[in-house]
Amino acid sequence: MRLVFSADRPVPSLSRIDSPAWHNLTVKECLQQLEATAEGLSTAQTAERLARLGPNKLELAPGRSNMRILWDQLSNVMLIMLLAVAAVSAAIAFSAQRFPKDAIAIVLIVGLNALLGYLQESRAQTALLALREMAQPLVTVRRDGHWERLPSEQLVPGDLIRMEAGDRVPADARLMEVAELGLREAALTGEAEAVFKKADLVMEAATPVLERQNCLFQGTEVVRGRGTAVVTATGMGTELGQIAELINSAGGETTPLQERLDGLANVLVGSALALVALVVLGGWLLGQPLLGLLEVALSMAVAIVPEGLPAVITVTLAIGTQRMVQRAALIRRLPAVEALGSVTVICTDKTGTLTLNRQVVEELRCGSQSIAVSGRGYDPHGSFTVSELAPPEGAVPGITAGARDLLLAAGVLCSDAELKKEEDGSWDVLGDPTEGALVVAASKASLDGFALRSHYKRKAEIPFSSERQLMAVWVDDTTGTLQQPLGDVSKGSSTLLITKGAPEVILGSCDRWIGNHGVAVLSDPQRQWWVEQARQLAASGLRVLAFACAPHHTSPEQSLDHQVLLGLMAQLDPARPEVAEAVARCREAGIRPVMITGDHPLTARAIGQGIGLVDANAEVVLGRELEQFNDARLQEVVSRCSVYARVPPEQKLRIVKALQANGQVVAMTGDGVNDAPALKQAHIGVAMGITGTEVSKEASDMVLLDDNFATIVNAVEEGRLVYANIRRFVKYILGSNVGELITIASAPLLGMVGVPLSPLQILWMNLVTDGVPALALALEPGEEGLMQRPPAEPGESIFARGIGSYILRIGVVFAVITIVLMVYAAGSGAPWKTMVFTTLCLAQMGHALAARSDLPLVQINPFSNPWLIWAVVLTTGLQMALLYVPFLSKFFETTPLSLQDLAICVGFSLIFFSYLEIEKLWRLWRRRAHADA
Ligand code: ATP
Repeated sequence: MRLVFSADRPVPSLSRIDSPAWHNLTVKECLQQLEATAEGLSTAQTAERLARLGPNKLELAPGRSNMRILWDQLSNVMLIMLLAVAAVSAAIAFSAQRFPKDAIAIVLIVGLNALLGYLQESRAQTALLALREMAQPLVTVRRDGHWERLPSEQLVPGDLIRMEAGDRVPADARLMEVAELGLREAALTGEAEAVFKKADLVMEAATPVLERQNCLFQGTEVVRGRGTAVVTATGMGTELGQIAELINSAGGETTPLQERLDGLANVLVGSALALVALVVLGGWLLGQPLLGLLEVALSMAVAIVPEGLPAVITVTLAIGTQRMVQRAALIRRLPAVEALGSVTVICTDKTGTLTLNRQVVEELRCGSQSIAVSGRGYDPHGSFTVSELAPPEGAVPGITAGARDLLLAAGVLCSDAELKKEEDGSWDVLGDPTEGALVVAASKASLDGFALRSHYKRKAEIPFSSERQLMAVWVDDTTGTLQQPLGDVSKGSSTLLITKGAPEVILGSCDRWIGNHGVAVLSDPQRQWWVEQARQLAASGLRVLAFACAPHHTSPEQSLDHQVLLGLMAQLDPARPEVAEAVARCREAGIRPVMITGDHPLTARAIGQGIGLVDANAEVVLGRELEQFNDARLQEVVSRCSVYARVPPEQKLRIVKALQANGQVVAMTGDGVNDAPALKQAHIGVAMGITGTEVSKEASDMVLLDDNFATIVNAVEEGRLVYANIRRFVKYILGSNVGELITIASAPLLGMVGVPLSPLQILWMNLVTDGVPALALALEPGEEGLMQRPPAEPGESIFARGIGSYILRIGVVFAVITIVLMVYAAGSGAPWKTMVFTTLCLAQMGHALAARSDLPLVQINPFSNPWLIWAVVLTTGLQMALLYVPFLSKFFETTPLSLQDLAICVGFSLIFFSYLEIEKLWRLWRRRAHADA
C-alpha cells in the first residue's frame, strides 16, 4: 500500500527499494510532508485520513471462512457421489414405503467425513495470527493539542505518539525527540539485543531499514528510555506489513498426501462409474429388471468409496505427531507428518542446528603472533601459548606491549553477554554465545568483564545484525588508559570506538593496524596478510571475528572508516555429536542436506566437511553471488551445491523456490522473522524452539524443541513410517473394496436375483470390519530399512511401487473366492447373501494379519502389534453379533447362519488367507533367486 496525501504531492515511498524516505528528512521536513504540527493532528484531519487510508492493522490474506472450508470438504468428488447415491436410495425406499435407512446411514457418514476434514484443515489456518496479534496495543497520541490513549487501530500518518519502556511500537514512525531510547527489534531482525535510537540524525537515503536509527518500526518493543515520534506509515504500509505481505504471497503448497488423495478420489469415482455402466448394460441385455440393477449400481457406488479412509488417515497422522513430539519435533500442521516422509532436501542453518552454539575462543592473532588459548567450555580459567608467525611484508615480528589485552578488552566492551556460575559450579553464558566466548577469553587473561564495563562506560552502540555483520560501541575513556597501547594516535581522545564483526567487513573499515611498533599504516600487502590469516583460521572450521578501534571517534553519525585493526579471535563451535550420523542417515535415505549460513564460506565448508556434508573441495556459493543469478541459473546451482555462506535471510526464499522448481520436496529451517517467508514457502518449514522468534514458529509446519538437525532426520523417519503405514492400510482397504465391487457386479451378470450386499452392509464393512483393523495397522511399530531407501518420488501416485497392482490382484482373488462361495451357497439353498457378507468380513481379518508385512506371518513376531490382534477379535465378535443378536440381524437384514454355513464361510476365508501367505512366500523366493543370480 502506498500512502498518497494529495494528487500533486506524494509522500516518499514506503517501500524498501525505492527510498527516499523519512529517515532521510529532518523532523521539520517530515512534519511538513505529513501536514502535521507539534500539537498533533486535528480531529477532522484524523477522521479524513482514517476514512481514506483505513485502520492501522495488518490485512493479512483473509483465511478461508469456516463455511468455505466445510464446503471444500463436501465438494470432494467421492462425497458428492455418495450423496447422489443417498438421494436415489431414499427415493427408492420412499416409493416402496420403506424406511430409508441406507440413505440416512450414507448421509451420516458423509457428514462425519466432512467434519473430520474440516477439523483437520481449520487447524492449519493459525500461522498468520501471530503477526496480527503483534499489532494491537493502546497508544499515547497527541490530538488537538492533548495527549490521549487510543487503540492503535485509530492511528494515521501524521499522528504524534509517545513511547516509553514496555510499549510495543504501533506503527512506523520518525523520531522527533528521545531520551536513552532503546528498542528490541527482534520482531523484525530476530536479534534480542536492544538497539539505541536517535532523533536528531538525518540518515543517508540508502540506509537499510534495520539501520535507520531515527525511525521506529511497528511490532518492535521499547525496552529503555522514552521518545516522541510522528507516524509515517500504518497498517500494511509498515515494514511489518510488508513482511506480512511477503508471507501472504509466498503460497502454501499442498502436501504430497493431499495431492495423492485427490488423485485417488478421481480414479475411484471414474472406475466406479465405468463399472456401473458396464454392469447395468450387461444386466439389462441379460434381461434383469431395471430396478434391481439400479440397486446393484447403488451398492457398487457405495462399495468403491473407502469411507473409513479419511478417519484412518487422520488418526495415523495424529499418532505420527505423538511419536514425533517424543523425539522433540513438534508438528504444527497435520499433513506435514506425511510430507516429511517425502522430503528430498533439508536446508539447514549452521549455528545452533548443526553445531552446539557453545563458542570457545581457540586462538588470537595479534601483531605477528598466533596465541593459542587453552581451557574447557565456558570455564574462565586457561592459559595462552604464543607462537611467532612470519610477519607481513614491511613489519617486524612481535607485538606491541598491551596490544593483546586491548584486543581482549575490546571483545568484552563490544559485547553484552555475561558469564554466570551455576549452582553446581559449572559456568554458563547469558546472552549470545559468540559474545560469551569473548568474555571467557578475557577472564583467562585476568581481565574482569564486569570491572571493565563499569569503568569504560558505553555511550552509544550499533548492535550486531546478520545483515551488517558487525557491532560497534562507543566507550568512555577519559583517562586514556584503555587506549594506551595505541600510543600517540590516541592522545587527547576521551571516547573510543570499538567494532567487531566478520573479518572482511572490519578489515574494509581499517586503514591502520597495531603491529610491533605501535599503530602503523595498513599497506595493501599487510591487508592481504590479514585476509590470509582469517582464511587460514576459517578453513579449520573456526568462526572468525575481527576487532578494530578508533580514538577520537565520538558518535555513530561519523562513518566507521579509518579504524585501527586490533587483531582476530577465532572461536570453535563444535558440531553436535549426533549430527555426522544424522547426515549419513540422510544420505542413505536419499535426502540431500544443504547448509545455508551467515558465516564465512571456509568455516562453513570446514564444518560441512567435518560432519560429512561435503568434501574438502566442495563448491561454496556466497549470498552476494546468489543475488546475481537469474532464476534459471539459480535452479542449476541449487541442484548441485550444498553449502551457502554469508547468506542473508531474504535469499532463503529464492533458494527454496529454486529447489521446488527442480521438483524437490524441501524442508527449511529458520529462526528470525525474515525467515518466515521461506518457512512458509517450503513444504516443511522448520522453526527453532529455543532460539526461534514467535513469527518464525507461527509460519512453520514443525518446531524443533531442541534446535537440533538430528531431530529433523528423526522426524523424517517417523514421517516415512507414517507413509508406509498409510500405504499398508490403503492397500488393505482398497483391496477389499475392489473385492466387494466385483462380487456385487458379478451377481446380476451370473443371473442371481437381488443384490449380494446392501449399502448398509457395505458401510458396515468399510467402516467397522475394515476400519478397525486398518486403525491397528496404522499402529505398526516400525519397518526394516525405512531409512535405507529413497524418499517417495515427489508427486508419486499413491498406487506406485506395486500398490496398484496389489489392490487389483488381491481384489480379483478375493472376489473369485467369494463368487465361488456365492454360487455354491445360492445353489444349495443356503442364505447366500449373509454368507457372502460374512465371508467378506472374515477374510478381511486374515488380510489384515497378512498386510502387516511383506514377510510371511511366521517370520514376524505376531504379538509385536497387539492392537491388531485385539482389532481382529473385536471385529469378528461384532460380525457375529450382527448375525445372531436379533435386533441387529433385523436392522442389517442378515440371517443367523447354521454352524455348518458359518464353517463354510470360515473355510473360504482361510483359502484367501492362505493365498496371501503363499503369494508372499513365492515373492520372497523370487527375490532371493533374483539376488543370487
Ligand atoms: P547461521 O546463519 O548458520 O546461524 P551464523 O550464526 O554464523 O550462521 P550470523 O549470526 O549472521 O550467522 O553471523 C555472520 C558473521 O557475523 C559471523 O561469521 C561473524 O563473523 C559475525 N558475527 C557473528 N556474531 C557476531 C556478534 N555478536 N558481533 C559481531 N559479529 C558477529
